[in-house]
Amino acid sequence: MSDKLFSVADQVVLVSGGSRGIGRAIAEGFAQRDAHVIITGRDKDNLEKTAVEIAKPGRPVAAMVCDVAKPEDIKALVAGVIGQFGKIDVLLNVAGVNRRMLTEKLTEDDYDFIIDINQKGAFLLAQEVGREMLKQGKGNQIHVVSLNNDRPVKGVVPYAMSKAALGHMTKALAMEWGPKGIRVNAIAPGFILTDLTRKLWSQPTMKEWGANNTPLVRMGVPDDMLGTAIFLASDASAFMTGQILYVDGGFTCGMNWPIDFGSQ
Ligand code: NAP
Repeated sequence: MSDKLFSVADQVVLVSGGSRGIGRAIAEGFAQRDAHVIITGRDKDNLEKTAVEIAKPGRPVAAMVCDVAKPEDIKALVAGVIGQFGKIDVLLNVAGVNRRMLTEKLTEDDYDFIIDINQKGAFLLAQEVGREMLKQGKGNQIHVVSLNNDRPVKGVVPYAMSKAALGHMTKALAMEWGPKGIRVNAIAPGFILTDLTRKLWSQPTMKEWGANNTPLVRMGVPDDMLGTAIFLASDASAFMTGQILYVDGGFTCGMNWPIDFGSQ
């Protein structure tokens, strides 16, 4: 049975970073539930291949190249979506990068690379899409932040800073745009197996540490983000704005002991 409360059918949904990982899983989930989905990314070939793979028969997924570090790409993207679809109901601001290294080793280029994509790019996309949503008098933005918003993990300072900024952007935009019909929320994924993290989590020590510290005792997969994205995009969350929802298997809810009390 389909439930109208959770329906995303016929929504025009723009997913930045929709060609791989979390963005791809969310884009596919919306496409399979009859939304009109547009995916973006930098790699044209992969984007177009993904669009074909995730589409539902009779409802093509659109692929539009956009590097969110390039403000002119963002303007062209939003104009292109409006030109083709006439509106944007939902923005899923997913595109993001990371470089794990200690601060003393970071170059200014490393810093700019992360901040230009994760923070400035995400802001400019939210702003440009927001301008259209303000004209529409309604809209829904969902920004992807991180468990770093709760407390930072070591060795990713610019990344943690960028996601903290997006968390506050979520709340600040919710304040500005709530009276104008636009809801703004965020999803904070926990440790999710994707291209961004696969190498890190291939180490046995990491796997053990992750399982020990996650109450649900497993790594996340991109599909784990879908239910929350659909909830936030649908009328089921109609009275929610400015919230950060952690989808992390419980990682941020507390700290585990390094000893087993069961055997004491
Ligand atoms: P991923 O597998 O590396 O995918 C990243 C996506 O973003 C790709 O589609 C990529 O496509 C796109 N992208 C990267 N740079 C871009 C740019 N400059 N302009 C436009 N698109 C760009 O990463 P993921 O793990 O799915 O992460 C997705 C989001 O979740 C990120 O914001 C990340 O910070 C966040 N997150 C991930 C985890 C995790 O454990 N995986 C945890 C917390 C938060 P192209 O390369 O073709 O551009």
